[in-house]
Amino acid sequence: MEIIVATGNKDKVREFREIFEGTDVRVVSMKEAGLFHEVEETGRTFAENALIKARALGKQAHAVVAADDSGLVIDALGGAPGVYSSRFLGEDTPYAVKNAKILDLMKNVPEARRTCRFVCAMAAVFPDGTECTAEAAFEGHVAYRSAGSHGFGYDPIFFLPGYGKTSAELLPEEKNAISHRGKALRMLKEKIDAWAACQ
Ligand code: IMP
Repeated sequence: MEIIVATGNKDKVREFREIFEGTDVRVVSMKEAGLFHEVEETGRTFAENALIKARALGKQAHAVVAADDSGLVIDALGGAPGVYSSRFLGEDTPYAVKNAKILDLMKNVPEARRTCRFVCAMAAVFPDGTECTAEAAFEGHVAYRSAGSHGFGYDPIFFLPGYGKTSAELLPEEKNAISHRGKALRMLKEKIDAWAACQ
């Protein structure tokens, strides 16, 4: 079986490959499949946006198509930046600026109300029209200052109380083992395996 991953992000394609390694599933990037999609992420939830991306590519391909959507949900900010995580303060604004803004918005928020989570939704669209989604969260607190140089995006301000460090201070393999994306991807794999078993 072949799965086309609806993303231009090489790291996401690599994560899919790692999860399906040793199975008879071949993970193919959009580029390798010669496909392209540009969709507006108009969904109100991560799962809706993941489905929008998977459906857009599914229309062009007679294969299983998978897509993801993720972001940072901060309770004290009413769930912001949420589905707007990559668009927060503008798509091209450096994360040093976005992170500094969040630290400023949170400067008077006490420890108990600094809870937040990274959420990742994965969606798969099958050639017979069946669809499925899987969602997972990675719980943390908004840090008081930026720390760490691994990871990307909001990792330097995502503090893990159990580790006493931010997710940007974890090694990539440590983060992958516990992150929202890894968990959601493993859950999606189970659903894809279940669909394949019925064919
Ligand atoms: P998308 O899923 O590619 O639409 O992007 C989601 C956005 O959420 C990223 O650009 C980051 O801003 C943020 N995000 C999602 N997961 C993570 C993570 O693991 N670390 C840091 N930021 C993340």
